[in-house]
Amino acid sequence: MSRIVIVGANHAGTAAANAILDNHPGNEVVIIDQNSNISFLGCGMALWIGRQISGPDGLFYQTKEGFEAKGATVFMETRVESIDYDAQVVHAVAADGTRVDQPYDKLILATGSLPIIPPIEGVDLQNVQRVKLFQDAQAVVEKLKDPAIRRVTVVGAGYIGVELAEAFQRNGREVTLVDMAPACVSGNFDEEFCDLMAENLRSHGIELAFGEKVLRLEGENGKVARVVTDKGTHQADLVCLCIGFKPNAALFEGAGFDTLRNGALLVDHHQETSRRGVYAVGDCSSCYSNAKDGEPAYIALATNAVRSGIVAGHNACGMAIEGVGVQGSSGICIYDLKMVATGLTEAAARRAGYDACVSDFSQVQKATFVETENPEVKIRVVFDGTTRRVLGAQMASTYDMSAGIHMFSLAIQEGLTIDRLALLDVFFLPHFNQPYNYYTMAAYSAVLGA
Ligand SMILES: Cc1cc2nc3c(=O)[nH]c(=O)nc-3n(C[C@H](O)[C@H](O)[C@H](O)COP(=O)(O)OP(=O)(O)OC[C@H]3O[C@@H](n4cnc5c(N)ncnc54)[C@H](O)[C@@H]3O)c2cc1C
Repeated sequence: MSRIVIVGANHAGTAAANAILDNHPGNEVVIIDQNSNISFLGCGMALWIGRQISGPDGLFYQTKEGFEAKGATVFMETRVESIDYDAQVVHAVAADGTRVDQPYDKLILATGSLPIIPPIEGVDLQNVQRVKLFQDAQAVVEKLKDPAIRRVTVVGAGYIGVELAEAFQRNGREVTLVDMAPACVSGNFDEEFCDLMAENLRSHGIELAFGEKVLRLEGENGKVARVVTDKGTHQADLVCLCIGFKPNAALFEGAGFDTLRNGALLVDHHQETSRRGVYAVGDCSSCYSNAKDGEPAYIALATNAVRSGIVAGHNACGMAIEGVGVQGSSGICIYDLKMVATGLTEAAARRAGYDACVSDFSQVQKATFVETENPEVKIRVVFDGTTRRVLGAQMASTYDMSAGIHMFSLAIQEGLTIDRLALLDVFFLPHFNQPYNYYTMAAYSAVLGA
């Protein structure tokens, strides 16, 4: 039996703690987090800001008391300041200044990620908002009570920036979405799909300023007033910085661990770091990308955090289970438009050196004779022209076709060729789909085009 200390209790730390407490009685579990809350679902932030949910209460699924009821010792609002990895002791300080020193047999690092703040003038002005914590969302909701905040500029048009642009527009604000890339969500989708999302945003009155590099933020009376880019100026009463996340590495930087180039802890398939008995999970750790032949990667997602937490929790207790790697599967729903993706885009596959080929297909979801709403679904499958292996897939529709992406995720995980999908046994019922299904039709087109 071990004394296991977990540093960080958001999704990854919570998953690890649950795996241990629910399945391996007898181990002593100590959980330490600097925040006052556990398990905040950041994915609900935009829904709250956009008033699509009535409040934040449902955005948590674990509490200090919940962990204590399962036998853990929990220190909240307690910041780990350093870790002596040789002596195996975690040194922390509670909000009231009390020192908390916790020895461990096994350590699980779940310190997550931090928002990237660009090194430009003006980021410290009032009403320049980062979006990560529950407290950040609370601050935004509070600021939006002020009618003087009329114009909001969101910097960064990845998933979170696009979701927040929608949220501010739904909240009645004039919204500008800026990105230096020529498109939105271009990390997850190819151009044709990005264009659909851009048109969706534009049609709801959101001003798009793509291909613009933010140079500085300017203020008046200490408050942000303008976003200055290399192409122009956007008036703004509130600016949200959504340009990405980096691993929160302060506790392990320079401590001799193997890391990725961005500082994330490199882990094996048991989530163990290069130091025996020290595990890393979630946004502070690496994962293995099956789309890129199992190469270590950094993909900061709650889904990866939860899975890696489960793996580390069991392994820390001596039950050897292996992670299976990830495809970076993700989705976004903006107004009525749903887009889902897994693996590599064509552009990413090309950059990674694959012989990237695509098969595109569009079709209405259900049999054409049905008299209910029957939207079109657009699908792209990315595959390697040489090995024929599926590398990625993207789908877009106003219909909720999202579950279909899981099949492509599995195909990538298992290294299937696109040819194996062409005649896959997919059921047909007119209420749901078509006998010539778009999943298989995209693959079949690739076979014919071979
Ligand atoms: C707005 C937003 C929307 C998102 N939407 C989605 C989505 O729809 N789907 C999805 O899969 N992912 C989404 N994500 C990403 C997801 O939230 C993260 O991948 C996930 O939170 C990572 O979990 P984690 O536990 O590894 O790290 P974090 O959530 O970063 O948690 C780290 C924890 O460690 C604690 N900590 C750090 N340092 C210390 C220290 N020194 N001492 C004590 N405690 C410490 C922190 O207080 C925190 O509780 C979203 C993120 C944001 C911000």
